[in-house]
Amino acid sequence: MADLNIPTAPAIEGATHLHSGKVRDLYELPSGELLMVASDRISVFDFVLDTTIPDKGEILTRMSLWWFDQLADLVPNHVISTDVPDAVKGRAVVCERLAMYPVECVARGYLTGSGLLDYRASGEVCGIALPAGLEDGSRLPEAIFTPATKAELGDHDENVSYDAVVTTIGAERAAELRALTLAVYSRAESVARERGIVLADTKLEFGARPDGTTVLGDEVLTPDSSRFWPAAEWQPGRTQPSYDKQIVRNWALSPESGWDKASGEAPPPVPAEVVERTRSRYIEAYELLTGERW
Ligand code: ATP
Ligand code: MG
Repeated sequence: MADLNIPTAPAIEGATHLHSGKVRDLYELPSGELLMVASDRISVFDFVLDTTIPDKGEILTRMSLWWFDQLADLVPNHVISTDVPDAVKGRAVVCERLAMYPVECVARGYLTGSGLLDYRASGEVCGIALPAGLEDGSRLPEAIFTPATKAELGDHDENVSYDAVVTTIGAERAAELRALTLAVYSRAESVARERGIVLADTKLEFGARPDGTTVLGDEVLTPDSSRFWPAAEWQPGRTQPSYDKQIVRNWALSPESGWDKASGEAPPPVPAEVVERTRSRYIEAYELLTGERW
């Protein structure tokens, strides 16, 4: 496991810390419900940076809540309330504790990232054969379900076949997750498209209530879990500009940062100007999608 550089989660009165990921901190409330807090941390190339992006946690939390509303008729979600302790106001939600399925439910309508790498190696993604001649950013003939196993913290998720999901959670659940994932993607893709944004792919996580109902959990359709591209600039055959941490990634890889990706060390502190441009980019995505001013 790599050293991810995740800082200690702040104590929240009345809540018990359960888990910290690269970006979020999870607590349990006395009621047994969960408190999911989105920090302003940013990770690039799987390193959590020492520099934070002001308001990022709040922007992503609001975006996720907005999407849960847009999807409410398709699938129940885990959100109970946004009435949270003052220390985390605006960037946390109280949610139902679910038994999470051990599957990262990814839908792709466009080819890029790990999907592109798999396609170049085998002509397939997660066992799904795709037509020849696709490039980075190509639109797929139809959206596909490309599940991945949830890796231990610090490892990369691994794309798996649909059959592997059937083996893990059974045929009925697998079919349900595939159908829900594609339904959510299809809805979100058309909502985003109307607003000038291409939703290239997205990762969802579902869990079960004690009565067995499947519920959408985690965060949804944020730039941390999805690829959003400006539709006007979409041009297959190259890396697409995107509404996420691309600005920080590009900076980290540039000579200006002085960072050597191969060193195994986290990148150095991010300059204020790069932080500000990144923050603006998240706000732009939020405003375009929701139609609300930040
Ligand atoms: P990474 O930083 O790579 O995302 P991570 O997934 O371990 O690592 P987070 O995403 O911050 O870290 O952690 C959120 C955790 O909470 C995940 O393990 C997710 O599966 C889990 N989770 C999300 N919603 C619920 C829920 N309603 N009930 C129980 N667990 C949940
Ligand atoms: Mg996660």
